[in-house]
Amino acid sequence: MENKEMIKIAFTVACLAAISMFLTTQYRKHRKQKKFWSSCYLKTEPKPQNKFKRVLADNSYSPFKHLKLSDSNNENSSSSHPYQAEITALLKNPHLEFNFVDGNMDLKMSDSYVWVETHSQLQELVDVLSKERVFAVDTEQHSLRSFLGFTALIQISTQREDYLVDTIALHDIMSILGPVFSNPGICKVFHGADNDVLWLQRDFHIYVVNLFDTAKACELLSKPQKSLAYLLEMYCGVATNKLLQREDWRQRPLPVEMVKYARTDAHYLLYIATCLASELKQQDNLCLDDKFHFVLEASQRSNTICLQLFSKEIEAAPGESAASSIISRHVKDQGGVSSNFCDTEFQDIVRQLCTWRDLMARVHDESLRYVLSDNAVAALAHEVPTTETEIYNTISQTDLNIDSLSLNYSLQSPSPIVCSHWEDIHYLLQEKIGEPNIFQLILQKHLGSKGSCPLSIYNYAMLSKSNLKLENRFISKQNGFKNAKRVGRKASRELFVQKFSCKSPVYHNCRIYANDGRLLCYCDRRKLEWYLGRDLAKLIDDNPPAIMLLFEPKGRPQDEDNDFYIQSKKNICVGCGEGNHYLRYRVIPSCYRMHFPEHLKSHRSHDIVLLCVDCHEIAHAAAEKYKKQIAAEFGIPLFVRKVVDSKQAHEICGSSESIANLEEAGVSPLELRTAAMALLRHGPRMPFKRREELKQIVMKYYGGREISEEDLERALLVGMNPHERRRLGKKRGLSFKHATGSIISGKKQENNSGGMVTSATVNTSSIDNVDNSHATKGKACSKDQNSDFSIVTDMDAVISSLCSDIEVDGEVFAADCKVMNSDGIGLSDAKVISDLDTVANSESSSSNGTINSIHPSSDGISSPKHNPKLSLLGHGPHGKQVVDHLLKEYGENGISQFCQRWRQVFVEAIHPRFLPGGWDIMHSGRRDFGEFSVYNPSKKVSAAAEG
Ligand code: AMP
Ligand code: MN
Ligand code: ZN
Repeated sequence: MENKEMIKIAFTVACLAAISMFLTTQYRKHRKQKKFWSSCYLKTEPKPQNKFKRVLADNSYSPFKHLKLSDSNNENSSSSHPYQAEITALLKNPHLEFNFVDGNMDLKMSDSYVWVETHSQLQELVDVLSKERVFAVDTEQHSLRSFLGFTALIQISTQREDYLVDTIALHDIMSILGPVFSNPGICKVFHGADNDVLWLQRDFHIYVVNLFDTAKACELLSKPQKSLAYLLEMYCGVATNKLLQREDWRQRPLPVEMVKYARTDAHYLLYIATCLASELKQQDNLCLDDKFHFVLEASQRSNTICLQLFSKEIEAAPGESAASSIISRHVKDQGGVSSNFCDTEFQDIVRQLCTWRDLMARVHDESLRYVLSDNAVAALAHEVPTTETEIYNTISQTDLNIDSLSLNYSLQSPSPIVCSHWEDIHYLLQEKIGEPNIFQLILQKHLGSKGSCPLSIYNYAMLSKSNLKLENRFISKQNGFKNAKRVGRKASRELFVQKFSCKSPVYHNCRIYANDGRLLCYCDRRKLEWYLGRDLAKLIDDNPPAIMLLFEPKGRPQDEDNDFYIQSKKNICVGCGEGNHYLRYRVIPSCYRMHFPEHLKSHRSHDIVLLCVDCHEIAHAAAEKYKKQIAAEFGIPLFVRKVVDSKQAHEICGSSESIANLEEAGVSPLELRTAAMALLRHGPRMPFKRREELKQIVMKYYGGREISEEDLERALLVGMNPHERRRLGKKRGLSFKHATGSIISGKKQENNSGGMVTSATVNTSSIDNVDNSHATKGKACSKDQNSDFSIVTDMDAVISSLCSDIEVDGEVFAADCKVMNSDGIGLSDAKVISDLDTVANSESSSSNGTINSIHPSSDGISSPKHNPKLSLLGHGPHGKQVVDHLLKEYGENGISQFCQRWRQVFVEAIHPRFLPGGWDIMHSGRRDFGEFSVYNPSKKVSAAAEG
């Protein structure tokens, strides 16, 4: 006795250990999944129904379309029964000669049966059945891994044979069985046909006409039980294990005991029906004068079932009915007390989660239970976990407690849907305010053009039809959404204006006169002070201030046929006249201008104009577009093609992998930076798909390995010049020491003996498409993600695209409008720029126009040897090559013409109506500098007015 007890305990302990081990591995799996930011589980999990080509009932909210018989009368609409007439006729004049068995039937179930899985086998079956007067039918369903469920097997038994029809293999052609099922001359015997009749309609447009339901007969005969198991026991002495009913009927080959169970359900039905029919007849014979006719009644009750039509359940809102039942159960559990504030929040979350669950089940073609259990919904709404781990724990703990009672332990908890889309739940739980467009957002996120989940025959209509439906149904909410978006845009614009527009008037309109009293130019106060402080001028007017130079300037503006510099300038947008805010716009993009010879770029207020944010955006977009044209024309790509982490480059090069491999490994530096920044800022709130994309970009830089937060931080620095790096460091409160990254050439370098191309290059002659995809990235992603998440990214995209106006131009400092003075480049700026130029120039000797400079390093593996002060994030390297090329081919004249092209681009984009007098596309740009001019490159700084 004691021994037995001990064994029992030992067994229990072993079982528990096994279960906990199983759970731990499951849990680890989830952790792992999380770590890899795994994409939708469906992408790697084949489901049998995915092979179906003909699906009559998809998971959309649109109503089910019934079979339409072309030959029948017109009243046959999709909502009426296609065999209404035939069934009604049967109800009026039932076939009462129930002869289900000829002669004596061998009750015993033999070993042989027919497995029907090919078209020809199915056709043979159709032929056989058409000759029968009666056959028995049962179906097995699969409902766990499908939203509406599908028929996995049909068992058909004639008096001679049992047929098991593989309705998964034959799904698309099952309708060839339709005619025998709807043939009123052939009786179909079912046990409890209510569901089967609907399932056959749903999956195959098979309609049963002329039914004998043994359950109905049972009911009429007032049997103590009307289950098939009871009838089998009573009439056939056969025991059946009804637990197999709930097995996974999708399995192939079907296990032997399931085959046996399936056959049993149909095999004895004809015999049982015969027995029941004779009992019914007996009843009728017993009371002949009675108005109640048992046989007639059985036939009528059976055929009434046939009149039923399958329809999809319709709810007021997706998941609404489940939410109501979860809430009412919760209220009951609380002892009927409810509706305090907490409960309102609980209810809101339950509704949101149920909506999500409903949509997810439809999108993935899974049952609601498979996605998330009711209990887990309640637990999540109750506990409101905040981290991914907490979400997982809440769900798995709840399911563990419940399922251990109901033997549902085979279910994975949390489900793969939760695991691959947990951030949705996270978002729903964090977002306390109800999102009215959750429906739309979820659909877009998962099934939209860049959705995270596979589109299928089951969910396609959801997307296409629901969108139309939503437009009508949620029109007001849609507008609300658009409004929210507009508000977001407006806010971001204001933020931008605030941040980047000039803080004070740009033009002070101070005047400088020559000592003969002729006006030389307009300028800002600082410049006046500069001359005054050196005793080179005297103040001649106060408001607005004016000075007169005490020395003879080299020339006069008029002498150079250039009135521009003696015009006063208004502090307004030259495009539209907006006077409330404006910022400087460089007509000649800085990436080129910064490489102009000093005397051509200095003191050129002509090509710096004021624009409001809107005009600025338009002008910038036009310039960016034109840059691409320049890039194509000169064969000089806009961006350094790709960079790769130097450590990774070592590793890749160390192995015997090919160049192609290395090329694949790299990533464009700006793309890398944008991705890393977005991940750091919005990673957890981002739509999964987007985050995954961005993560792939960063991983590519690190040679495909897993990345950490630290790696993201490090990626921010890649390609930055020291100035940018310092700025970022300040901003993020860190100091970054290491410049990282190797640049990969876009082209194979045949002459590079080691085959190593991680050498620094500022790039090849081909235009890379990485760059093209780039320029539009910010906008593209915000456009096609019609989700709330995108408001965040949207705002960000606007800001970053506007910021990049400034940063990408290679002049981070240009954003700080306040350091500028009226004549364009302030002194401090000039210094920074020339600083850059000096470095750039020192390198230019090796550069010859379109051909890039490659510096194979001594160890065969490159260290970046491009000018480290030239940011790889902007178009600086491109600009330098273009300018070098122009100078080499056409000299300064080339530069002048180049500037004219840019002014043309500007004018065409903006059609400016408020340009200062004297502004001219053909502006010569030729200005001489006096020997004392600060702008005279050959002289030390001393005082002189230009002229
Ligand atoms: P049966 O004809 O009794 O074997 O049932 C046909 C199909 O109905 C089965 O394959 C199951 O999918 C489904 N079914 C019937 N009863 C249940 C139940 N109690 N729980 C789950 N599924 C059931
Ligand atoms: Mn069955
Ligand atoms: Zn998915």
